[in-house]
Amino acid sequence: LQDNLLGSSTLARLNSSDASLQKEVPPEEKGFKGHDMLAPFTAGWQTSDLHPLVIDKSEGSFVYDINGKKYLDSLAGLWCTALGGNEPRLVAAATAQLNKLPFYHSFWNRTTKPSLDLATEILEMFTARKMGKVFFTNSGSEANDSQVKLVWYYNNALGRPNKKKFIARTKSYHGSTLIAASLSGLSPLHQKFDLPAPFVLHTDCPHYWRHHLPGESEEDFATRLANNLENLILKEKPETIAAFIAEPVIGAGGVIPPPKTYFEKIQAVVKKYDILFIADEVICAFGRLGTMFGCDKYNIKPDLVSLAKALSSGYMPIGAVLVSPEIAEVISSQSNKLGQFAHGFTYSGHPVSCAVALETLKIYKERNILQHIQSISPRFQDGIKAFSGSPIVGEIRGIGLILGTEFTDNKSPTDPFPSEWGVGAIFGEECQKRGMLVRVAGDNIMMSPPFIMSPDEVDQLISIYGEALEATEKRVL
Ligand code: PLP
Repeated sequence: LQDNLLGSSTLARLNSSDASLQKEVPPEEKGFKGHDMLAPFTAGWQTSDLHPLVIDKSEGSFVYDINGKKYLDSLAGLWCTALGGNEPRLVAAATAQLNKLPFYHSFWNRTTKPSLDLATEILEMFTARKMGKVFFTNSGSEANDSQVKLVWYYNNALGRPNKKKFIARTKSYHGSTLIAASLSGLSPLHQKFDLPAPFVLHTDCPHYWRHHLPGESEEDFATRLANNLENLILKEKPETIAAFIAEPVIGAGGVIPPPKTYFEKIQAVVKKYDILFIADEVICAFGRLGTMFGCDKYNIKPDLVSLAKALSSGYMPIGAVLVSPEIAEVISSQSNKLGQFAHGFTYSGHPVSCAVALETLKIYKERNILQHIQSISPRFQDGIKAFSGSPIVGEIRGIGLILGTEFTDNKSPTDPFPSEWGVGAIFGEECQKRGMLVRVAGDNIMMSPPFIMSPDEVDQLISIYGEALEATEKRVL
């Protein structure tokens, strides 16, 4: 009776001082409240952290959990393990560097060879326009935080102290530090964190399917968004707007490629008002879209670029900011006046991260990774887009090796399923059961598999996706 009234977990908690009971009762029965880690981006302390999926090992396009179950890793970790899970050359590059020089910094005109070489290599690879200098960070968030500081420093140097506001876009993701989260256009990153910071403005998300007017073409939609941007700039006064930041393809916000002519029109507006263009290439760079950089795909001529993730294939933390020659020149003359450029991190240009990144870029070139991506991406895109007719799919969108699926009712952007149905979560669970991990965000599903996927693995991914979709339809309809 007591058991029934209190529930076995309460009983176990009451008795938790009893050592013999502790041994026998499973942790959750003892009132176990999850693990000791405050896990990033983990929802619902009550449920999800009780049974985390613990990943133990990786191999090519697959990861294994602690019980030995194998999963096709359709998100390449977090959009980053481009060369898959066990590239021995990256391990060897890290080991060699660890043995030779595990750490030295890049402050006060001291530095290391791997960081110098990597900066040169990146500038050679980025050809959308000529860039001048590379500043290293540990992450994409730090890269975007550094962007804001660099732009402010630049405008202060030019005697434009009021030109400080940033324009980003709704649904964009630029990271989770204070400034990067402010730039991001996703409300969970702002709620209860007192963000966004007041200097950040958000303009339209360029999602044609969701936001176009009846009868409006992609080109007309892009024109309308460019006009809206111009109106925002005029309302805020152009002399107060410093920079515009955009991901070539929005990633974590749901995989949203731009409508036709969008970047051409947006770039014309920002140029007209002397506003810098920052390309956040943290996901898009190094081949993800089927071109070496997202800027190549959309003919973007940025003033500044953020990189991370595939720069080291995710094997070591590293991010980078590419700075145009004009901005680099102003920053360097300003720092000469002030005595120094007082920005940087202990691990800016960490030699092990740089050595791994150098080897990663070498492998991309040697194995002609771009050609491989171009050869497998039609199979990936067409195979998944073939499910667009499903009655629970609103839209499937993507390019190259990045894809988003959005579940909606009646195939309409304005008819979401009730959130408590958890349609996206059901699909994610059905994929996981069948040995594939996808990114679930509400009713959005995202995939960005490793660049090295074989055609057979692409087929396997499509087949699991199809089975999971069918199972989801059965549970939802
Ligand atoms: N920018 C973009 C476009 C991203 O997708 C991400 C991470 O997903 C970031 C910035 C932040 O990078 P990090 O998580 O390395 O700080």
